Amino acid sequence: MYVSLGFAQAPCCCLQSTKWSQQPCFSAAGYRKSKAKPNGKKTASEEKKVYLEPEHTKSRITDFEFKELVVLPREIDLNEWLASNTTTFFHHINLQYSTISEFCTGETCQTMAVCNTQYYWYDERGKKVKCTAPQYVDFVMSSVQKLVTDEDVFPTKYGREFPSSFESLVKKICKYLFHVLGHIYWAHFKETLALELHGHLNTLYVHFILFAREFNLLDPKETAVMDDLTEVLCSSPGSSGATGDGASSGASGAQNHVKER
Ligand SMILES: [Zn+2]
Repeated sequence: MYVSLGFAQAPCCCLQSTKWSQQPCFSAAGYRKSKAKPNGKKTASEEKKVYLEPEHTKSRITDFEFKELVVLPREIDLNEWLASNTTTFFHHINLQYSTISEFCTGETCQTMAVCNTQYYWYDERGKKVKCTAPQYVDFVMSSVQKLVTDEDVFPTKYGREFPSSFESLVKKICKYLFHVLGHIYWAHFKETLALELHGHLNTLYVHFILFAREFNLLDPKETAVMDDLTEVLCSSPGSSGATGDGASSGASGAQNHVKER
């Protein structure tokens, strides 16, 4: 079992607005990706990744040393640590996406794209599901929600054991959550910036990537699509890189904004 950290369950518009009669089964569902631009040409937005600009990458909401924070504490069971953190990342990424979800529509994001990579959802029968980015995120969040609340997978009661497939399920969850984070950066950084939530996004990204790195939860091939950002955000000393002024003022505004929503 693991002890829930008690994070408020973020209501997710994508969870509420699902119109799909057949919920995808996470354990069987998969995704495949393809290069959106096989000719190697760069799109206009690709050439100018606003989220890589130093004035934005330095923004954080805390100067925590995430490299130390992610390490398994002594006396804590590995699976409990993975469960607790995975659940927390799910809630936080869900919340971060909910702040821009009104801008992520079937019109603005006709495919689930991150840089030059396009992701497809595959249902429980392995059938390719043509979906927009908000539908893809809906599939991800619904599936993860189902898993983290399943006592057989994420046991919370005393005496219950984690399944033998637990670590591979955590890896799958991390992979899908990474797609959502990548999409927020790639397609909605402008809106995130306007909401002054980029400090939150950067902080969440660093924490998530360093945690995944610590326990080998993400395949480097999977994360290669965001390597340029990861290098800037996670390679700085301590990987916190908080610079104070900009970050703190941004955080203050962001918190107010979240309360209003
Ligand atoms: Zn979108």
